[in-house]
Amino acid sequence: MEKNFFKKLFNHLPYGVLLVDSKGIVVFQNNTAGVLLGEIYQGDVGCDFFNELKHYPLRYAVNDSIEKKLSFRREFELSSESIVQIDGDLYDDKLCKNGFLLSIYSISQFKKIEKHNRQFVANVSHELKTPLTAIIGYVETLLESEELEESMRLNFLQVVRKNSQRLSQIVNDLLTLSSLEKDEASTEGVTLASAKIKTVILDAIAVCEYKANAKNVTIKFSGDKDFSCLLNPGLMEQAVVNLIDNAIKYTPESGHVDVSLSDSNKNIVIRIMDHGPGIPAKYHARIFERFFSVDKARSRTMGGSGLGLSIVKHIILNHHGQVFVEDNIPHGAVFTILIQKKVIRR
Ligand code: ADP
Repeated sequence: MEKNFFKKLFNHLPYGVLLVDSKGIVVFQNNTAGVLLGEIYQGDVGCDFFNELKHYPLRYAVNDSIEKKLSFRREFELSSESIVQIDGDLYDDKLCKNGFLLSIYSISQFKKIEKHNRQFVANVSHELKTPLTAIIGYVETLLESEELEESMRLNFLQVVRKNSQRLSQIVNDLLTLSSLEKDEASTEGVTLASAKIKTVILDAIAVCEYKANAKNVTIKFSGDKDFSCLLNPGLMEQAVVNLIDNAIKYTPESGHVDVSLSDSNKNIVIRIMDHGPGIPAKYHARIFERFFSVDKARSRTMGGSGLGLSIVKHIILNHHGQVFVEDNIPHGAVFTILIQKKVIRR
């Protein structure tokens, strides 16, 4: 009974335990050990561990450890999906003399996050490097050229200003993103209060009017009804501004952008539609990733930070809503925000 109790208990552990005796016979293993080792070991209690183990680096680590009477802790990539950390220790008691104990932990998730963070740092550095290089280059030219024509000097200073603004925008957007992600992870989330959504959308349109006028683009709004919902008006306005701003960017001169407010069942539906080039369907799922761009060179010349849509996604997640992109017919992009009319606070 006691043996069964411990066996059951060990089967509930989130990490694998496997005990081999001095002859290499498996005397104990829990279910998780089998699951974590997967393809490389299909054995069970009573089998010859080294016969069943189909992974040379692990076999070597165990043999070496037994020979040198030293424990080990190592990471093993067992497949593209599975990375484990294994602790190997000498084990000796009256039921298992001169045995060897393996404790196996899955670190796949941790490694995935680590890789993601590394990529993110590389992306940020790359994005910051481009404007910084331009600033340094132009400032050095300004300092070194004593007899520079006034128009040229002004031209260089304008490039320095444009790139400084870009740096500042990237840093501000990164700070916004990090604060949104922190709020998402916290139990309270961002502050949400009952507010009217239509005012927020009209305010967002007003913010974008200046940029639209400069391109002779008209922003058309449709929405007879107004709705109350739980909102952080400042953040929601920023999400809608980011979408309208992109729509204006990608709309040809003298075109128009449509913004609509409606409802369907439990949701409030906000749509931002443009008639630009649209976004190829294969990128629809990736478009909200940080620094993702369909055409990097083009979006850089348009002055974006590459973080606008990520910010939109996190603002909407903080409102417990959804945001997605679809094709506009015959061409263009439609971004849709759905927020529940009645949201249960976290
Ligand atoms: P950016 O600062 O580059 O505009 P965003 O996160 O706002 O960053 O957008 C990411 C990418 O999505 C853009 O670089 C562009 O390729 C694409 N995109 C966003 N909105 C539109 C749109 N309305 N029409 C076409 N492409 C778009």
